This record gives sequence, C-alpha cells and structure tokens, in this order.
Amino acid sequence: MISIQGKGVSTGVAAGPLYFYQRAKTTLRRYKVENAEAEWARFKAAQEKAIEQLGELAEKARAEAGDEAAMLFETHQMMAEDLDYEETIQASICEELNNAEAAVTDTAAQFAEMFAAMDDAYFQARAADVKDVSTRILGILSGVVQGGIDSDVPVILAADDLAPSETVQLDKSKILGFITEGGSGSSHTAILARTMGIPAIIGVGDQLKAEYEGREVIVDGGTGNVVLDPDEATRERLMQKRAEQIKLRQMLEQLKGQPNETLDGQSVRIYCNIGSPEDVATVQANDAGGIGLFRSEFLYLNCDDYPTEDYQYEAYKKVLSDMAPKEVIIRTLDIGADKQIGYFNLPKEENPALGNRALRICLNRPEIFRTQLRALYRASAFGHLGIMFPMVTSVWEVKEAKKMCRQVMDELTKEGIPFDENVQLGIMIETPAAAVMSDRLAKEVDFFSCGTNDLTQYTLACDRQNNDLGRFFNPHHPAVLRLLKMVTDNAHKNGVWVGICGELGADLELTETFLSIGIDELSVSPRSVLPLRKKVRETTVSACKERLLGDLMSDQITI
Ligand code: PEP
Ligand code: MG
Repeated sequence: MISIQGKGVSTGVAAGPLYFYQRAKTTLRRYKVENAEAEWARFKAAQEKAIEQLGELAEKARAEAGDEAAMLFETHQMMAEDLDYEETIQASICEELNNAEAAVTDTAAQFAEMFAAMDDAYFQARAADVKDVSTRILGILSGVVQGGIDSDVPVILAADDLAPSETVQLDKSKILGFITEGGSGSSHTAILARTMGIPAIIGVGDQLKAEYEGREVIVDGGTGNVVLDPDEATRERLMQKRAEQIKLRQMLEQLKGQPNETLDGQSVRIYCNIGSPEDVATVQANDAGGIGLFRSEFLYLNCDDYPTEDYQYEAYKKVLSDMAPKEVIIRTLDIGADKQIGYFNLPKEENPALGNRALRICLNRPEIFRTQLRALYRASAFGHLGIMFPMVTSVWEVKEAKKMCRQVMDELTKEGIPFDENVQLGIMIETPAAAVMSDRLAKEVDFFSCGTNDLTQYTLACDRQNNDLGRFFNPHHPAVLRLLKMVTDNAHKNGVWVGICGELGADLELTETFLSIGIDELSVSPRSVLPLRKKVRETTVSACKERLLGDLMSDQITI
C-alpha cells in the first residue's frame, strides 16, 4: 500500500483504477521515409479515423445542442478530406519522402497561413479549423487518444494539471475522481470538479508514478489522501467513510423544500454556480432557488470556433426554460487568465490575470459581445434572466456594456424578435477598484455578485492559480471581508441586492458573517446547497451579529 498526500479540493471518497490523462504529444519527430507508399497508407488510415471521430462528435453535438453545434464538426470533417489539403500532404510524403507527421504539420501551417491572410472573416476563421483537424490527425498518427480517456470502465483520472478547456471536454461518466500533480483550490478545474460533485485532490507533486497506471486507488477529497493498492483495513475504513457520507447526504435530503431562514427569521437566497446546460439537473436535484452564476465561457471553451448566436441562444434558452420560473444569472464571457481559447488568437501576455480578460475583451471586440448579448436577450423570452458582467473596474465600462445591451434590445425590437424588457443587469465585484467604487456602481445596476476568488487574488496580490502561496492566499482575510461589508452597505443604500458567487459563499465558517453583513444571495456548487441551508437554519443572526461585525472592523486586527 502506498499513501500519497495532496490537497483535497472537492470532497467525497471514490475508488477505482488509476488512469493517466492522455494528451497529444507536442514534440514533432521529422525523418525521411524509405517506403513512401506505406507512409501514405499510414496517413490515409489516420485521416479516415479522424473523419470517423468527427462524425461521432457531430452526432453527439447534434443530440446535445442542435444542428448549429454539429456543423462545427462537420466543417472539420470536410476540411479533413479537402482535396487540396490531401494533395499537399501526398506530395510531401510521396515526392519529398517526409514522414506523415511532418507532412501534416507543414501542410497545416501552410494552409493556416493562407487562410489567415485572407480578407474575409469566414476564411480567416478556417485557419483555426485546419490546425485543429491536423492536431487530431497527428494525435492519431502518434497513437495518442484525443479526448483524454480511453477506458471502458470509470477511472480515477490523474494528470500533471488540467486546463479548464481539457476538463470541460472530458466524458464525465468515465470519471470517479481527479488527482493532479499541480493545480490550486481556486483554479477553474477545481471549481468544475466541485460543480460536478467529483472528489478531487491537487498538488501531489511527483509522487504519482507512470507505472501505477491501472492499479486500484482510493481518493479522499476531504483529507487530500490518495491510497494506492489499499490494504483490507484501509479499504474498509474508507468505504465506511464513503457510506457515512452517503448517509449524511440522505439526511440532508430532508431539507429539500425548506426555507433558507435563520432561527430569528432572516432569509437568504441559495443559488447555484454552473458551467453548462447539463448542470441544471444537479441544480434541481439539490433544490436550489436559482442559478447565481452560469459561467458562459465554458460554452466557448467547448467549441473549436466562436460559438454562433444560434448555438448560444439554444444553450441559454435550455437553461432558462428548464429553470423557469426561477432566476438564472448568466455571466458574459470571462476568458483570459487561466481560461485561454486558441481561436481568440489573443497575444501572449506576461501577466494574463491582469491583462486582456473578461469584459475588457468584450468591450475591445464588440462583435463578439454583441453576438452573445443577442443570444442572451433572445433567450430571455423563455425564463427569468439576469445578465452580469465580470472583471469590472470602472463606471465607464458598465455604461458602455449597458449601451451595448440597449442597442441589442433596439435591434431585436426592430426585427420583431421577442425578449424580456426587464432583464436585470448586474456586475461582478471581483476587483478592489469595483469594491471601492461600489457606491457609484450601485447607481448603474440592479445587483452585485461578489466574485471572491478574484477579489481575494486582487486584494491580497496573490495568484489564485499558485498552490505554493498557501497561507498567503487567505479568503478569510479581513481586507476581503471588510470589502464585502462595504460593498453590501453601498448596495443596500441604493436599493441594489448583493450576492456572493465565489467559492467562499459555500464556506460554512463564514455563513454567520455573511448573514450579519446582510448578503442577500449565496451562489454555490450544487452539492453545497443543502449543507448551507442546514447551516443557515441553525443560525441566530441577532446573537452573533454585533460580535462578528465588531471583530471585523476592530482596530485590534493585526493580520
Ligand atoms: C470569482 O472570481 O470569484 C468568480 C466567481 O469567477 P471565476 O472564479 O470564474 O473567476
Ligand atoms: Mg472571477
């Protein structure tokens, strides 16, 4: 038995075979072939397989998100069998005797350059397609499985780290738990694991060896412990713990349908954070009052090209109509920082968390923003929508974003397309600038939602992605909590409601503090709804408010 210690970032115990995430190799081997015919046949087989995979993906996309989504993969299919593309590869292999990997790589680069140089935006976008298709073919040629998991049974997935774009594309039915060498508890991969309710452990370093693949492993996402080849006593202990957790969840089930009300009658709304329309099922299963944060960028991360207005409209409409009449707050695109998307072709930055991200991208590239806003407003006719903008620092940004909303509403009116005229507009408070300016910002919007993951990062000047910062990244820091109080006071003075949608919202150690501050809504991962409801229902705010607020503002604080 081998015991490995990491950091638990999503609770629960899970057991299964260990499986290492497969990622396409990036190093290219170049060599001259002796038998060009055999090499050409090798390429043709890989090409055929790629076309087959793309067909399957198109069907899956059609079933899950409609024709528009399937078209992306069908375009890739056409690209894979494009005659010019194929003939260029053939010449490289059969005339220049290059190996298939080199031929595909060179042809992809040549075609991508050619497309990128065209004036027409449609053809420019094909540059990303040709690269994507070629990467798929290269993956098949080098024997690497695209999509990460090639196993018939569910596994405990191990990886050095996982990018959000990789995590969203995984087949969730195949994953019992995650283990990563690196990572951080505030990273989007950890957040996704919590949303999916899958136990996850990060930061195990180099303790996991490739030769462990396939061996039995038990992960405890609460303690951060990984046990390989458990002995009988350990297996029994951990399975017992798992059974107790299941029992506890069953007890929590009794809280379904009960109000989120303290013993002295103060109410708070408990909503959920989601990343895709499929998450709505767990939101409902956990009896949440609404959706407080739909991270819309995960739709973009799941696509190989800019998602069209119709594609987005279908996704938003599905969430809104499935949740109706409950409220759904959809956050506009928040990419940049750790959520990078190839087809956006964003220049590489030294400090991406401080760079071109979220609302900044939307304001700089209004055509992308407009497409999303049109999809959102069109979908608003099917439920109760709120729209919020991420990464705000200034009042002018909000005014500009609102102006875009107005323009979109005018367009839809002219086109005779129905939408809800009263969609609430809000902003995320996740920069110290937004918190400090909250008195002014409150005059512009209907609600604030505090993104404490970023608010902690920016207030404490502490990278949320860096696990080594340990105790320096402290979301309980009074600087963060004082800002939350200030924001809430400013909001309430202006008739604006306030939520918390960062991970801190589910931290039961702070529930009494949030209630004392007067937070109106807490938006958490679906599995956190019922434990949070339990905590709220056991609290008497009047008994702790004075002490907690006094502590928070005390001049004795020295941290
Ligand atoms: C946050 O910053 O707290 C937040 C909710 O947004 P994200 O984690 O997606 O940056
Ligand atoms: Mg954020």
